[in-house]
Amino acid sequence: MKRAILLIIILFSSTIFSQKKEVINEIIKKVSIDTLMNNLSILTGDKETSFGGGNIRITSRHRNSLGNTYALQYLKRKFEKIGLPVYQQDFLNDGQNIYAIQKGIKKPNQYVIICAHYDCMPFGDFAPGADDNGSGTIAVLEAARILSKYQFNYSIIYALFDLEEQGLLGSSYYAQQASMRKDSIIAVINLDMIGWDSNNDYAAEVHVQDVVNSIHLAQVFHDSNKNYEIGIKLFTNYPGSTASDHASFWRNGFTAAMLIESFKDFNFYYHQTSDDISKINKDFYEKMTKLAISVLSEYAGTEKDVEEIKTTPTAFYLSFNYPNPFNNSTKIRYNLSQETYTRLIVYDALGNEVFKLVDGIQKPNYYEINFDERFTKKLSSGVYFYSLQAGNYFAVRKMILTK
Ligand SMILES: [Zn+2]
Repeated sequence: MKRAILLIIILFSSTIFSQKKEVINEIIKKVSIDTLMNNLSILTGDKETSFGGGNIRITSRHRNSLGNTYALQYLKRKFEKIGLPVYQQDFLNDGQNIYAIQKGIKKPNQYVIICAHYDCMPFGDFAPGADDNGSGTIAVLEAARILSKYQFNYSIIYALFDLEEQGLLGSSYYAQQASMRKDSIIAVINLDMIGWDSNNDYAAEVHVQDVVNSIHLAQVFHDSNKNYEIGIKLFTNYPGSTASDHASFWRNGFTAAMLIESFKDFNFYYHQTSDDISKINKDFYEKMTKLAISVLSEYAGTEKDVEEIKTTPTAFYLSFNYPNPFNNSTKIRYNLSQETYTRLIVYDALGNEVFKLVDGIQKPNYYEINFDERFTKKLSSGVYFYSLQAGNYFAVRKMILTK
């Protein structure tokens, strides 16, 4: 009897495991080089697309070209056709990021991001930017097209950043905002130049630095390449380049890595008007897209991954409350990296203690307190301070109540 139960358990768990692998195998088989090339031909101006009742050609996606906005509209429409909610994030005077969110089933507030920049070089009205970075942009769309038909435990964000070529401006803005909101981002997969392989050796690189779980993420690239028999000759580049959008996430303390073609076979046409669709190595591009999508699926996938990935903070930290100033309620967040005696105290402008929000031993975790009417109804408008004392960590922040 006991033996039978044990056998059933073993069979059951191995079924779950193989199911996941089967599903991911099924997913990557759906990557279509025809879809990739067709979308890329529109994004690079090789083919026309309908726009505002007529037809247009996206001949450039450079910041100073009107094509940058055409591209944005085209990409937005593609996400909408897939059926995902799309969000536009404006920054500076002319920067426009867009992203689509696919809600996770079990952990909807934790995110896996796949991203690419859609702007391009060189300056002027003709810049197809096929490899850099039409290739990554269209691969993100392909991920959305295929994965939107499946359910994942974590939420997936398909993000397309603007103004990477102007100094990672779009991703910097996004990552800073995400950090301020204390978004729980498990991994960021950045695709930048994934369609060039002049010698057909299938060599590519995953760029990584030792930030949070980034090294684990790079390992998942290698594991997926092997497990799903994708056929990329993958090298780890460590410490990886900071010249693309993943670096914005590293700078804000998030797990990230970049997939890119081999630096030993660098694109001859980089940042030139000749970086057009005819230079794309289709077979290589298809494999790179499959690799990216398999890694994304692994991360967004099963409950088991939740346990394997460290989700506790790596440092003590008191965030700046949001919103601030506020009139009724604001959120105060803090991170504890170790179990410790924790005190979170609110003071008035004269230094008198008004509330003890936390006073006791707490476990390592991310915490959030709604400083709402329960507290604010007893307070008048003005400046207040709150401090976090946790172990040797001490920080004070200012908040402004305007009634
Ligand atoms: Zn690029």
